[in-house]
Amino acid sequence: MSLASSEPQVRVRAPGKINVFLEVGCRQSDGYHQLATAFQAVSLYEDVVATHADGFTLEVEGTVDVSGVPVDDRNLALRAARLLAAETGYGGGVHLDVFKEVPVAGGMGGGSADAAAALVACDALWGTRVGQAELHRLAAQLGADVPFALKGGTAIGTGRGDELSPALARGRFDWVLAVNEEGLSTPEVYGALDRHRERHRLDIAPTRVVPEVDAGVLQALRAGDAAMLAETLRNDLQVAALGLRPDLAETLELGESSGALAGLVSGSGPTVAFLAASPEDAAELRDVLDAAGRDVLLAHGPVRGARVVG
Ligand code: ATP
Repeated sequence: MSLASSEPQVRVRAPGKINVFLEVGCRQSDGYHQLATAFQAVSLYEDVVATHADGFTLEVEGTVDVSGVPVDDRNLALRAARLLAAETGYGGGVHLDVFKEVPVAGGMGGGSADAAAALVACDALWGTRVGQAELHRLAAQLGADVPFALKGGTAIGTGRGDELSPALARGRFDWVLAVNEEGLSTPEVYGALDRHRERHRLDIAPTRVVPEVDAGVLQALRAGDAAMLAETLRNDLQVAALGLRPDLAETLELGESSGALAGLVSGSGPTVAFLAASPEDAAELRDVLDAAGRDVLLAHGPVRGARVVG
């Protein structure tokens, strides 16, 4: 008996993310760093449409430059589909159409959102119905940010960022994103941080081996207070991203002197995220950055995680 759904295709939408706080601990023996992060899912979306097929194929288009996205088995969405098939013994295949709004290699987890969306879409299309816990386990195998793209909202990530616990969050936060055509490689940014810390002997003190999210961040999220969040935003990767891309410092200064409550490099960069006090302030800041020649997108958070939309 075939478990496959009678639907010819399933469309799933998954969000990009901003790390509103990211503390990077020591490098572990497996090469990963211990992290403590606060994720917020924001309203830039990746749509993945899954259609029945014999093999595993994928096409990518989007409102952002997708020329850097692999369409072979290196693509995280295809790897997600193959993993689900292998784990469930599903004998067929899938064709995936990916529509991207999240800047590629921008530090906003676009590839991870594609993987989360592909897992949910194939699970529905194939009728494998593995359940939330198993989806989460498979997501964590695909990448540290994939479980959050499944879950969405606001959450704390520890371990490699994949051990999630919910964070209470109220209200809406408005973001202005200065995006860059040329992405940054996440492993390169972590490598630059290690070298920076070695040079300056800045490794986290042994008394603080386990990184932690600042209590002020949690309080600001709980209160839905953008001004308070602005005081507590932090990203340990920022110094490394700025070292690799000194031009980002100018963008940060421009945004912060033009009405942003605060700015920070998003994840491993090079996207710079500015927090605004209101949607109107965000639109004004967008116009200023736009006039200064930056590529700018507006987004708000928190929004929902990967879900079937058609
Ligand atoms: P991270 O999740 O590490 O912060 P990022 O948001 O900076 O990543 P992504 O857009 O997710 O960047 O992609 C990083 C790299 O992963 C790309 O340069 C590309 O080579 C590869 N990749 C694999 N699958 C995908 C995908 N579906 N979409 C985009 N990039 C992908």
